[in-house]
Amino acid sequence: MAKKIMKTEGQEADVLASAIAQMTTPQMTTPEGTELTEAQATKVAKIRQAGGKPEVTKCQRCGKILVRDLCVEREEGDLCSHYFDELGMTKDDLATERAKRTIKEVPQGWIKTRQLHRICESHSIPVSRMVKAMGTDRGMGPLLDPRFEFKYVGNARYVDGWCASEEGLALLKASN
Ligand SMILES: [Zn+2]
Repeated sequence: MAKKIMKTEGQEADVLASAIAQMTTPQMTTPEGTELTEAQATKVAKIRQAGGKPEVTKCQRCGKILVRDLCVEREEGDLCSHYFDELGMTKDDLATERAKRTIKEVPQGWIKTRQLHRICESHSIPVSRMVKAMGTDRGMGPLLDPRFEFKYVGNARYVDGWCASEEGLALLKASN
């Protein structure tokens, strides 16, 4: 469980932040329509009970909302801890990595990784497999297939629509 959250930290934080931003919405969904897991919904409900001014702890490196106790304690997310502390990368290194993956326009037939995430869910494919296939959160790890390489357009990440094809999903399903 902890392992899964580590791999999806970025997405998890985005989903939570989005749900918190929509405090008046009682449904278990974010403005983008992403369904919250039970744990996420519980977290959001607690924050709502606190009057909408939650005591959230943000990562000192990237500013994302931290969820796990260990991360809250050290005020740093697992991914930032990994890149900065374990790998010894600098902010410039990460910016360079990001620039390498940034393009100006969405290529034809490409879809948001958020959309692929939902498609995986509807096919009972764990999101951790999708994230791993894309080279983990920042795309720096090995790819399951070159077509799983994502690109940034602004803040959104896109992948080849092939990933959501029968072939792409089968490859994901068979991966671990
Ligand atoms: Zn961080």
